[in-house]
Amino acid sequence: MSTTLFKEFQFEAAHHLPNVPAGHKCGRLHGHSFLVRLEITGEVDAHTGWVMDFAELKAAFKPVYNRLDHYYLNDIPGLENPTSEVLAKWIWDQMKPQLPLLSAVMIKETCTAGCVYRG
Ligand SMILES: [Zn+2]
Repeated sequence: MSTTLFKEFQFEAAHHLPNVPAGHKCGRLHGHSFLVRLEITGEVDAHTGWVMDFAELKAAFKPVYNRLDHYYLNDIPGLENPTSEVLAKWIWDQMKPQLPLLSAVMIKETCTAGCVYRG
């Protein structure tokens, strides 16, 4: 039985988007309460009844979370143009080697806007 589970994380960070047209509001320094949703897809273990322990997922994301929370994203290598799309792929690239079951990274930078990267 293949199932997708997810865990959501929230972090605060500042950024600006350097490649937007002159005068675009996203070109100015500002911050977001980013929401990250990591999805894991795999077989449900017959004994444990789960695909993966949520605590294990949380622990795996912790080092990446610590690099993002309350930082200026543009300073992080690979995030010089930190759109939601670029951030989703960057998180995917950080997490996938240690989370082979990772199936999606969702980013929301406002309550109504976000993106999903599936590798
Ligand atoms: Zn923004």
